[in-house]
Amino acid sequence: MADRYRVDCRKFPSDQGCTVAISGSIDEVIELGWLHAKTHHAHKDDEETGIKEWIRGNAEAAHD
Ligand SMILES: [Zn+2]
Repeated sequence: MADRYRVDCRKFPSDQGCTVAISGSIDEVIELGWLHAKTHHAHKDDEETGIKEWIRGNAEAAHD
């Protein structure tokens, strides 16, 4: 079974009360996290590389 990772919007530096958490493989978490950042938090396409790197650096091991 592949390792699962988790990112939690409650820990997002600039977040304003979002409580979404995403878990899955590291690639799924990065892709969905980026889509969530773009659609829900109004991040722009030119932030994609930085956001994805941030997610990769901040994803935690999930034990669910
Ligand atoms: Zn969020």
